[in-house]
Amino acid sequence: MILNGLDLETPTLKLAQANLPQGASIYSLGEKTITEAEYIYDFSFPKEQGHPNPHLWLNPAYAMRYATLVRDELIRLDPKNKSAYEQNTAQFVKKLETLDQATKDAIQTIPANNRRLLTYHDSWPYFARRYGFQVIGAVQPSDFADPSPKEVIRLIEQIRKEKVPAVFGSEVFPSPVLEQIAREGKSRYIDKLRDDELPGKPGDTQHSYIGMMIENMTIMFEALGGSAEALKKVDPTPVAGSHADYRRKN
Ligand SMILES: [Zn+2]
Repeated sequence: MILNGLDLETPTLKLAQANLPQGASIYSLGEKTITEAEYIYDFSFPKEQGHPNPHLWLNPAYAMRYATLVRDELIRLDPKNKSAYEQNTAQFVKKLETLDQATKDAIQTIPANNRRLLTYHDSWPYFARRYGFQVIGAVQPSDFADPSPKEVIRLIEQIRKEKVPAVFGSEVFPSPVLEQIAREGKSRYIDKLRDDELPGKPGDTQHSYIGMMIENMTIMFEALGGSAEALKKVDPTPVAGSHADYRRKN
C-alpha cells in the first residue's frame, strides 16, 4: 500500500495498520522525498499543530522523486517485471521534465509582481518554492472554520496594496469568504483549482497528473497576466501501463 504520507492520510493509515494482511507493507512517499528541514509549515498547517503541509506532489520535481520511489518499491516486490517498471518510469520522468521546463518558460511571461498566490485550499507552497512564487495566504484553516475578521481585513488590504490580480478558490471547497476578500480587494475570484482530482474521464488524454497540472497552471498563469502557451507543447497522455490503462484492462 502506497501513501503520500506527511500525515495526509492519518485515518486511512490507522485503518490500514489495523487490517494489514500478512506480508503486506505500507510505503509512505513524503518522508522519503524531502528532509524534515524542508517541510513547510504555514497557514493551514501551522508548526504548533505538528503536521507539515503534505502537498509535495504539486512540485513536479518531487513528483519525479515519488515516481522513482514507487518504481524501486515495485521492483523490490515484483522483480520479474523490473524492466517494465524502469521503462514506464523513465517515460514518465521525461514527461515531467518537459512539464517542469514548460512551467519555467510560462512563468517568465507573468509580471514578477504578480507571482503571488492567495488561495483557499493550502496546496501550493512546494510549487511556489520551485517556481519563485510567494504564497501570501491560504484561507482554509486546519479546522475548516472561517478566518477571523481581523485576518480577512488584513488579506483585503494586502491584495489591494499589492494589486494581486486574482485569487484562487478550489473546485471542491466553495468559499464565500474568499469570494468576499477578492471582491473587496478588487481582485478576480477563480474557483477552479484542484489538487487531487484528475480532469476528464479515465481514458481521456488529459486524465493524468500532468493534465491536472497543465489545467491548474493555465488557469493560474492567465489570471495573473501571463501566458500558458508554453504548456500547450506538453503531452498529458498517461504513459502505457499507468493506472488509466490498468483500470480499463482490469
Ligand atoms: Zn489538498
